[in-house]
Amino acid sequence: MIQQEEVLELLEEYNRKKITVATLGSHSALQILKGAKEEGFKTLAICKEGREIVYERFRAADEIIILKDYKKMLQSEMVKKLQEKNCVFVPHGSLIAYVGVESIENKLRLPLIGNRRILRYEADRSAERRWLEEANVKMPKETKNPREINALSIVKFPGAKGGRGYFLVSSYGEFIRKSKKMLEKKRITEEDLKKATIQEYIPGVNVYISYFYSPLKNEVELFGMDRRYEANIDGMARIPAADQINSYIEPSYVVVGNAPIVARESLLGEVFRMGDRIVEVSKKIAPPGMLGAFCLETMVTHKLEFIAFEISTRIVAGTNPFTAGSPYSYLLYGNNMSMGRRIAVELKNALREGKEKLLIT
Ligand code: AMP
Ligand code: AMP
Repeated sequence: MIQQEEVLELLEEYNRKKITVATLGSHSALQILKGAKEEGFKTLAICKEGREIVYERFRAADEIIILKDYKKMLQSEMVKKLQEKNCVFVPHGSLIAYVGVESIENKLRLPLIGNRRILRYEADRSAERRWLEEANVKMPKETKNPREINALSIVKFPGAKGGRGYFLVSSYGEFIRKSKKMLEKKRITEEDLKKATIQEYIPGVNVYISYFYSPLKNEVELFGMDRRYEANIDGMARIPAADQINSYIEPSYVVVGNAPIVARESLLGEVFRMGDRIVEVSKKIAPPGMLGAFCLETMVTHKLEFIAFEISTRIVAGTNPFTAGSPYSYLLYGNNMSMGRRIAVELKNALREGKEKLLIT
């Protein structure tokens, strides 16, 4: 594990007037880079060959580095180059999906905004569960053993896989039948299946709550809410029931985009209390705890209960609808405060006040 002291030493060597906010060109990079620019930082995007078009066309960064593969960013010459450019890195879902938590922990020798140690919690379901349950956040029942399936359940795979390959089952027999089919269709691998988690299916609506914990202010801010737009499950209602029955279509949960949500105002109290407890517990389990952006992924039931099925310990793409600010960020900051920009504001303040230690690991 790269230690914070080492990172802070690196930062000491940096030219403070030329700090560059860097991220992978993917996921939520557009608002991260735009926000950093607005706060006066230089910006840099690392793109996989073929994906640079988006960042070029939006003039998203001062500099774009194109690599054959995202993992090449870990090569020592590359890391050195980024250090020479005074890069501070913002982690997001694609960094986790394509570079991987272990490499971020052990190889990415760059100052990272947020807590390097807590990224692993979103990839490790049992650690995540201990954390959320200790924070008194309700979660769906879960098992690894398909013989225990006795109600409608969702079969999920680890990591930021974006709903790929998920399927629904309500008995052991159905699990065997469907997993065989999914393997045959190559929608999942044997390896995925070994790591599968079977979760009680929560009937309700999905609400993804994006928070920002400011270590400088010691306060959790509510930054936005979204729901995911997933193919093909979100299109199912467009097919008449009779046709659904006649031509059975396997539901899938692959994320295509995100749509903004505003919750009933009476739900917001619980939203804040959950956010506060999550941060409080995080300080104990992975000091210095949750820093900056995170997201609680919930289903809300007809009893108006939040049941969380996951936590993301960094910016989520569900903040992308709010490049110009969300209905919630507006209340605290007025217009034009995206999550990306909020991250840059915290960085700027930390650097100015000499409190890097509170934000960067
Ligand atoms: P991509 O670069 O789009 O292939 O996505 C990288 C990772 O981030 C994948 O694991 C995706 O599932 C996840 N991801 C990308 N965009 C979104 C989104 N809009 N909402 C939720 N997850 C996303
Ligand atoms: P995830 O990849 O965990 O973010 O979940 C992808 C999709 O599956 C989301 O749209 C969720 O609404 C849905 N989902 C995940 N877990 C559950 C659950 N336990 N009950 C109902 N829906 C779920």
